[in-house]
Amino acid sequence: MRIDLHTHSNRSDGTDSPSELVRNAREAGLDVVALTDHDATEGWQEAQEAADEVGVRLVRGIEISAEYEGVSVHLLGYEFDPTFQPLLDELDRILGGRTQRLPRLLAKLAEHGMPLTEEEVLAVAGDAAAWGRPHVADAMIAKGYIKDRAEAFRDWLVPGKPAYVGRYSADLFGAVELVRRAGGRAVIAHPWARESRGKLTAEVLERLAEAGLAGIEVAHPDHDADDRTALEAIADDLGLVKTGSSDYHGTGKGPQFHLGANTTDPAELERLLA
Ligand code: AMP
Ligand code: ZN
Ligand code: FE
Ligand code: FE
Repeated sequence: MRIDLHTHSNRSDGTDSPSELVRNAREAGLDVVALTDHDATEGWQEAQEAADEVGVRLVRGIEISAEYEGVSVHLLGYEFDPTFQPLLDELDRILGGRTQRLPRLLAKLAEHGMPLTEEEVLAVAGDAAAWGRPHVADAMIAKGYIKDRAEAFRDWLVPGKPAYVGRYSADLFGAVELVRRAGGRAVIAHPWARESRGKLTAEVLERLAEAGLAGIEVAHPDHDADDRTALEAIADDLGLVKTGSSDYHGTGKGPQFHLGANTTDPAELERLLA
């Protein structure tokens, strides 16, 4: 039984449609796949139809843009009520922040000789309910300014680089509570990747567990073997579920993010959803 609990479709910044994603999951030998688009559940229905057709079990999820002490943190939510109004209100604020950021981000790119229009970005974002920096990167590629998304994230669009602009994110503890109140399970995504590394200490993870966090994404392409060993010990100590996943984005991210790159133990999934 192979289970991948973190993937993105083109409803956010992945490149597969939800049904292509599910078919690709089947072809990659997965029995269970979670669709966890950024800040949006728009892909659930199409993914469910494809899952029923090809015989894959779909776990319905989301990856919420959150922050803790000024640092970006991603929170996975699973099997919650997508009509729970307080959560919808928070997602609306996050999606609004994505839209509000765009003019300022494009002004900075223009200052650096890379003019783009909002229409050009939204055109490459296509069906996305949550557009993001990867779409800006795609528009930059289309103009011939850069070679690939990795270059955009290396030289332009991250904190400390010339075209970085922050945006609204949910408070991390508040987001855990919203997922819980919506009847779902909250799992902290790649806690020791990038910026959140160093912030999400064992002590903070313990407070999150007390606040209702259900699990930790231990196996993720951004975690090395030492990270995984340490996070596993923390999860065991706190009684949290340990998950493993790919964070697949189709062709939008490197080959180490392929479907099934990391998997979740079936007993851990049952414990998570029990
Ligand atoms: P945003 O949604 O605008 O905050 O952009 C963050 C997204 O960019 C996350 O989904 C990341 O997976 C993605 N991302 C971060 N670094 C890279 C990279 N080097 N190449 C492609 N995508 C990336
Ligand atoms: Zn993404
Ligand atoms: Fe993430
Ligand atoms: Fe992700």
